[in-house]
Amino acid sequence: MSTTAEYDCVVIGSGVQGSFAAYELAKKNQKTLVLEQFILPHTRGSSHGQTRIIRSAYEQDFYTHMMEECYELWAQLEKKSGVKLFRQTGLLVMGPENSQTYQMMKSTLQKNKVPIVTLTCDNFSQHIPNVTLTEGDGALVDITAGVLYADRVLKTVQEEFKKLGGIIRDNEKVTDIEPGPVVKVSSTAGVYRAKSVVITAGPWANSLLAHTGLQLPLEVMKINVCYWKEKVPGSYDVNRRFPSFITTESEETDEHIYGLPSNEYPGLMKICHHIGSMTDPDQRDKQTDRSDIDILQRYIARCFPGLHPEPAVVESCMYTLTPDRHFVLDCHPTYNNIVIGAGFSGHGFKFGPIIGKLLSELSLGQVPSHDLSPFRIKRFQEKMKSAL
Ligand SMILES: Cc1cc2nc3c(=O)[nH]c(=O)nc-3n(C[C@H](O)[C@H](O)[C@H](O)COP(=O)(O)OP(=O)(O)OC[C@H]3O[C@@H](n4cnc5c(N)ncnc54)[C@H](O)[C@@H]3O)c2cc1C
Repeated sequence: MSTTAEYDCVVIGSGVQGSFAAYELAKKNQKTLVLEQFILPHTRGSSHGQTRIIRSAYEQDFYTHMMEECYELWAQLEKKSGVKLFRQTGLLVMGPENSQTYQMMKSTLQKNKVPIVTLTCDNFSQHIPNVTLTEGDGALVDITAGVLYADRVLKTVQEEFKKLGGIIRDNEKVTDIEPGPVVKVSSTAGVYRAKSVVITAGPWANSLLAHTGLQLPLEVMKINVCYWKEKVPGSYDVNRRFPSFITTESEETDEHIYGLPSNEYPGLMKICHHIGSMTDPDQRDKQTDRSDIDILQRYIARCFPGLHPEPAVVESCMYTLTPDRHFVLDCHPTYNNIVIGAGFSGHGFKFGPIIGKLLSELSLGQVPSHDLSPFRIKRFQEKMKSAL
């Protein structure tokens, strides 16, 4: 052990949520340290890769409300850093017209006055060529939506954090957390003391929480990130204004299928199934189940006739799911200077700046600037009791 240092806050994990939490803390003049178990950058958690969808389209009002401010925070970071992080593409939402999910998304968008375009089966193919709209499906476009350049985001927010005096120590795994008025954090390379700790450890959240006597009902899933080749180059290209999309449910699956226009790999479109197979985060690559790919192949053959229904590139990523698929943003039930950001359930990237702000507020004992009731740990209490 070579170091014992004092910080206002130690953030554990440098994925998108830890990086933004640290940046927000540094903006508030907090002496902040980020500890990351792997050498940066890495591809072993949930925040790697080149792109993510950003959208206002949600079934629940509270996410759409958070996105209003979040778009502003993304724009501020772009302006401050001079790095392009966001490209507006719109998001095509398709799903059974009379289904609850499709109707709720549509009404949340309308209620919140998010600009949308509703398509009909008559004008659909004129606006969205090379996609087959399923009979009985509705279709609309959330105009605000687009693509975030994920790897650029991480690099940029970490650099801005460091410019404010923040410290990131990678290749340094946290091995123990000792709660108290001053929290002691031990890692493979040092011991640190901090007034507060933020745990943003993605799929490893429960391993860290075990040191504090808490386990959350989280499930870690490996997602096959699939890229599909265009039969005619350019058919689904971002430069030809092909949108991102979500199909809320389909013949093939009750889960969402989502995709992004061809961009990071020219000629390849990223399309994924919004659920995968359970995995241990340290053994991710031993999970070889491909049932999500089978579903995608059938869906693509039916709805995206301009793509070869065989993935050209398959990468891996992980989701950390809560039972209701809503996030955990809360203080530890016993130690209020330990703050938890977890369970982002495969849709947390777009919220990075606002989640960072909320976690920093919790860490400073401030009143959170958004209603956190959907994200509180107490909603799991019954489940947690039965699991213990
Ligand atoms: C295939 C895929 C597609 C997605 N698409 C979208 C999308 O389109 N839009 C969207 O908004 N979201 C999307 N998401 C979700 C989003 O990417 C995640 O919600 C987000 O990246 C979660 O970030 P995180 O910081 O919580 O976790 P992570 O990125 O996993 O970060 C946690 C970090 O903690 C570190 N850590 C863990 N334990 C320790 C320890 N003991 N000591 C030190 N460090 C530790 C890990 O190494 C890791 O770097 C997608 C996710 C995947 C997998």
